[in-house]
Amino acid sequence: MPDLTGRVALVTGGSRGIGRAICIALAHEKCDIAVNYRSHAEAAEEVVRELKDMGVRAKAFQGDVSDSEQSNNMIESVMSEFGHVDVLVNNAGITRDRSFVKMKPEEWREVLLVNLNGPFNMTSRLLPQMIERNWGRIVNISSIVAQMGNFGQSNYAVAKGGLIAFTKTLAREVAAKGVTVNAVAPGFIETDMTAAVPDKVLDVVRQLTPVGRLGRPEEVARAVRFLAAPQASFITGEVINVNGGMYMG
Ligand code: NAD
Repeated sequence: MPDLTGRVALVTGGSRGIGRAICIALAHEKCDIAVNYRSHAEAAEEVVRELKDMGVRAKAFQGDVSDSEQSNNMIESVMSEFGHVDVLVNNAGITRDRSFVKMKPEEWREVLLVNLNGPFNMTSRLLPQMIERNWGRIVNISSIVAQMGNFGQSNYAVAKGGLIAFTKTLAREVAAKGVTVNAVAPGFIETDMTAAVPDKVLDVVRQLTPVGRLGRPEEVARAVRFLAAPQASFITGEVINVNGGMYMG
């Protein structure tokens, strides 16, 4: 019997990359999936088709997680379709890289709005019904950059570091209510996000990664699947590194 039969997951930014892989990994546990996307409707519908072929219920929901009103409306649609959300994966994220001396206020703000306010908007609305049902799994996708820092990513590091701090604090607040809160910190993973990184930088990344390559979205998704399972009920406030050994914390 798969572990998440009858459960519903909402995955933000689920139309591609790591988010898409997470949707598929959770569907392997027979979890029904709400696929959030911001602008790639076609890609999201394709993920939905793939999930339905796996035998789960799935639907795409448009909404910008950084916008409080859009988040509310999106969650309302998810709730009216599925009735409840048991697993929330705060995956949606962006980068706006620039060295700090040149960084524009809007680049700082935009990254914090999506990567940190986004999880706030999702979690604050979905947590009460998890507490009420005495069961919930929240998985925040952070980054190795929160742990090591990275040139040109002060905005991103702050947001992803904040997400780890949020994970630990919320984990303490809701541990007795059947809700676990954990983070996954990927290293460099092959997605559209790293496709924007120059080849010579990626070569250095490979050299600094003991496994000797970039990670695959499925390898990150596997950690989320593990944390979402009922058997992970005694793991909370944890950060799982999926980084090929680049950082061992
Ligand atoms: P990606 O760019 O392929 O995917 C990001 C997804 O988030 C996209 O589907 C995008 O549309 C969505 N998104 C962005 N802003 C949104 C918003 N305001 N509302 C709703 N959706 C929004 O990148 P990815 O590599 O798959 O990244 C997924 C997560 O993993 C991100 O949080 C990212 O920071 C994190 N991460 C990625 C890497 C990596 O190397 N790729 C490493 C560490 C952490």
